[in-house]
Amino acid sequence: MTEAPTPGEAAITLSLIVPVKDEEEAIRPFFTRVLPILEGLRTQHGPGFGWEILFIDDGSSDATLAEIIAAHNRDPRIRGLSFSRNFGKEAALTAGLDHVRGQAVVPMDVDLQDPPEVLGAMIDKWREGYDVVYGVRANRMSDSLPKRLTADLYYRAHNWLSDDKIPEHAGDFRLLDRKVVDVIKQLPERNRFMKGLFAWGGFRQTAVEYDRTERKVGTTKFNYVRLWKLAVDGITSASTVPLRVWSYVGAMIAIVAIFYALYLVGRTILFGIDVAGYASMMVAVLFLGGVQLLSLGVLGEYVGRILVEAKHRPIYVVRQRIGDPAGDA
Ligand code: UDP
Ligand code: MG
Repeated sequence: MTEAPTPGEAAITLSLIVPVKDEEEAIRPFFTRVLPILEGLRTQHGPGFGWEILFIDDGSSDATLAEIIAAHNRDPRIRGLSFSRNFGKEAALTAGLDHVRGQAVVPMDVDLQDPPEVLGAMIDKWREGYDVVYGVRANRMSDSLPKRLTADLYYRAHNWLSDDKIPEHAGDFRLLDRKVVDVIKQLPERNRFMKGLFAWGGFRQTAVEYDRTERKVGTTKFNYVRLWKLAVDGITSASTVPLRVWSYVGAMIAIVAIFYALYLVGRTILFGIDVAGYASMMVAVLFLGGVQLLSLGVLGEYVGRILVEAKHRPIYVVRQRIGDPAGDA
């Protein structure tokens, strides 16, 4: 699906994928900071180093799309796709991977929390032969304390439950070689937890550290409800341990119950019938009821995901293309 570069245009080495949702104020500062860096890389690596920026307008309701179109008119290497509605950042990244041409691809947030200065170091590692160079947040001081704690807890839980370990505190900001992009493009699932998919691919990986700074303009689009959904998606898509663990919990409870029953029978034989026992009844009923509801809920999470997968709906719907993004969707 990769097309030959048009005459006079350098082959595209680096593609940036930038998902945007209501970011009208963030786009200009993004160019001010990123364009000189891209041109610097071009000077450093020679004119054969072409780049492109692909914006994915994820159902913005402000002037984001107009900003992208204006930028494209100034520089045709800036292209865009506009979704028919908000499909979420994971869907936007998927669309990005489907529509870039570069040999190296880097998803990046528009709010400059992923410092573009790191791109140079990423490219150097890539030239050394690494296929995935992920950025690791050296400090997350820019995030609030509860967000840091929950993120920490999440990475631990995910990596404990799942075989595809995701690097801790690595966001979506990472360089992916074309080989890796082509593998991820083939993964058919609707549930796009990108960090999990990136980890599943494997390949030669290395890290570069960076400081994640505060968002300069606009506000975060992720509240805790959204982060919770993302966390549940991540774990259920990468691990079946939460499904299987209930058989063991059930077995443990059954074994304990047998011993307790033996004890009750023995006590009744030795000491006669004891009218009390309301407490132990209630404990058993409530505890078992709770465990059953919990395990049903876990089953529901997975069954719901099977339903979503079985519907085979597209991951995103493109309403408008700005410039000529690669791919045929
Ligand atoms: N974003 C998106 N779709 C959404 C939510 C966010 O494309 O539904 C984009 C957003 O415009 C930004 C990036 O994803 O470029 C990261 O979002 P944000 O900075 O709000 O997340 P945080 O840094 O707080 O995790
Ligand atoms: Mg941000």
